[in-house]
Amino acid sequence: KDAVEISLKDIDQLARTSFPLCMHHMLEKLRENHHLKHGGRMQFGLFLKGAGLKLEDALAFWRAEFSQKVGSERFDKEYAYSIRHNYGKEGKRTDYTPYSCQKIISATPGVGDHHGCPYRHFGEENLRAALNKMGISGHPLEEIMDKVKNRHYQLACTLTFEAAHGVSCDTGINHPNQYFSESQKVLKV
Ligand code: SF4
Repeated sequence: KDAVEISLKDIDQLARTSFPLCMHHMLEKLRENHHLKHGGRMQFGLFLKGAGLKLEDALAFWRAEFSQKVGSERFDKEYAYSIRHNYGKEGKRTDYTPYSCQKIISATPGVGDHHGCPYRHFGEENLRAALNKMGISGHPLEEIMDKVKNRHYQLACTLTFEAAHGVSCDTGINHPNQYFSESQKVLKV
């Protein structure tokens, strides 16, 4: 396991350059709504932990958004516990592991949920728009949409990684935190 650390002030920048679409989407929704439902808090919170966000920063990050919606008192009472819990600081003290693509793809997000895998759970128009926003269009975009039609979601994500970074990713994408660390490797050389 690599010991990279990410800090609070870098999250938005890192999201633009190195987060897979699933996590980028949740950050956008969190910034927009100042809230994420349980499934999103788990999927995104554990990803951030895996990417190297420390507990204190994680609490500050979620508090800054949620307090705009529910107030900081209610945040501290109702939500802070589960964040500490994700870091193994409460309850059974299990160190929760970030979700793999397979687990995320098999989720069943309901109305108002923003977790899940965009390649699996977005409608075609929304997915095309999201990929366009990442600067992907033309032939690479059609190749990605073709993988999606054939239900090869991780391959679609791998092609997105390749289009966004201009390198090939021979191992393929199987974990959001792997996407993140591969991206950081490419960008830091
Ligand atoms: Fe996220 Fe994995 Fe889906 Fe890519 S394939 S968007 S990393 S869940």
